[in-house]
Amino acid sequence: MSSNYDVIVIGAGPAGYVAAIRAAQLGLKTACVEKWINKQGKPALGGTCLNVGCIPSKALLESTELYDQARHKFADIGIQTGALSMDVPTMIARKDKIVQELTGGIQQLFKANGIDWLQGSGKLMADKRVQVTASDSSAQEYTAGNVIIATGSVPIELDATPLHTDIVVDSAGALDWESVPERLCVIGAGVIGLELGSVWRRLGSEVVVLEAFDTFLPMVDTAVAREAMKIFKSQGLDIRLGSRVMGSKVNGQEVEISYKDANGDATLKADKLIVAVGRRAYSNEVVSAEANIGMDERGLVHVNEHCETNIPGVYAIGDVVRGPMLAHKGSEEGVMVAELISGGYGHVNYDVMPNVIYTHPEVAWVGKTEQQLKSEGVDYQAGSFPFAASGRAKAKGDTGGMVKILRDKASDRLLGAHVIGPGASELLGQSVLAMEFDGTIEDIARTIHAHPTLSEAMHEAALSADGRAIHIANRRRS
Ligand code: FAD
Ligand code: NAD
Repeated sequence: MSSNYDVIVIGAGPAGYVAAIRAAQLGLKTACVEKWINKQGKPALGGTCLNVGCIPSKALLESTELYDQARHKFADIGIQTGALSMDVPTMIARKDKIVQELTGGIQQLFKANGIDWLQGSGKLMADKRVQVTASDSSAQEYTAGNVIIATGSVPIELDATPLHTDIVVDSAGALDWESVPERLCVIGAGVIGLELGSVWRRLGSEVVVLEAFDTFLPMVDTAVAREAMKIFKSQGLDIRLGSRVMGSKVNGQEVEISYKDANGDATLKADKLIVAVGRRAYSNEVVSAEANIGMDERGLVHVNEHCETNIPGVYAIGDVVRGPMLAHKGSEEGVMVAELISGGYGHVNYDVMPNVIYTHPEVAWVGKTEQQLKSEGVDYQAGSFPFAASGRAKAKGDTGGMVKILRDKASDRLLGAHVIGPGASELLGQSVLAMEFDGTIEDIARTIHAHPTLSEAMHEAALSADGRAIHIANRRRS
């Protein structure tokens, strides 16, 4: 194995492995350093996303959603099932198999693209030298024309609620329980809290979600967040806003959580506790002082719009830099950086970044929220359409939620799209594409949408922006 490369990527999550593959495709001699050891004790590629994030959580969401439908929807449809039960170890084993297949797939792609996987922990030194320390503590140094730091993020831990065996866990721990806790408490009503809270709620746990903020999902359009709160509460998620967790204490097999809300001090007991209070950039252990890379006190590596650090030829991408902590954001940054390094053109449009919360119904959005447009003084117009009026949603028996779109009044440009409802994650795609193409509401309104599809709700929302929706009564505005 050579010790000189055109590109060394440190970290093989969705930011790093995509950067490595794209760099290799462009003819650059590429290596990727990765230290992850998986649940089976084997070195693995794929990072947080494939091993303990996006993919395993979605596998569990899929299994539990089907179980929930079988319990609560099948009888309405006319399907008689008899007694139902969930085999939790089989569900977990299925999730593990999916993870192993996908992470193994990245390994195959590395081989196919001639990428050297340097197994171990990488550290960036001065002059674009990378030291790799293997699990047996042996170290080797490599040099590169360009280094890409893609070391991701780790869960934020609260001193007051230390992790404890499988009772007080972070998001990764909550993906591996082999039985259903009777009482589950989640700290944080963010994306992880809602997704993993939903998984265990569907299997029968009593779930209390304690959220310090008074506002539910502040990054989501207010109308959508209000609808989401209503639906999640009806599913039995006990979401308590304005409840700041102060500490936890494990007594035997249960945990007592203390928190403060508007009424003062409170406590609750649970069998399991998930700490889901955000993630922090993982950089300090990765960059030596002599490398002289600029970063802030939270560990975020400073980069320009092309993800280049203060040292020419050293880039940083993904969760370790500013911006939303999303897999697709990191991957696009990886493509951009590889293309720039090879002398090509690279760009990430941060204004058109899709976001999805994979609950049921899903919550998905792109662009500005109505509250953002108001505070920016933009002259906008909103259009919306409820799934209750969608023929396809009715046929599916899944009518909760709506589509809401926002347009610039003068130019008719699409400024934002917000969906809560069945298939929201896939439905959002057309709005993302429309925004990327600088499309207008009229473009969506004039596009033929197949009938009956859920995407007709987007069409009708576009029509409703100026009072032309066909399947709801609306007032003509212009
Ligand atoms: P990571 O995926 O964290 O990868 C970084 C890699 O760098 C790791 O493999 C790590 O081992 C390696 N590394 C670190 N330091 C070193 C070193 N010194 N030497 C060698 N290797 C090193 N995002 C979405 O877009 N959609 C989702 O549905 C979604 N669901 C999620 C669910 C959960 C439960 C969690 C926790 C996260 C989820 N995310 C989701 C967020 C997503 O996982 C992250 O945004 C994404 O993984 C970031 O990619 P990354 O490559 O920057 O970092
Ligand atoms: P988050 O920032 O989304 O939510 C954390 C929540 O915890 C916040 O609402 C915060 O107010 C609350 N909190 C913090 N301290 C608290 C305390 N002491 N008591 C009560 N509440 C407290 O973070 P997360 O849910 O941990 O997710 C981390 C990252 O992973 C996110 O940035 C997200 O983008 C990413 N992620 C994305 C997806 C997805 O795209 N579907 C899924 C999971 C995770």
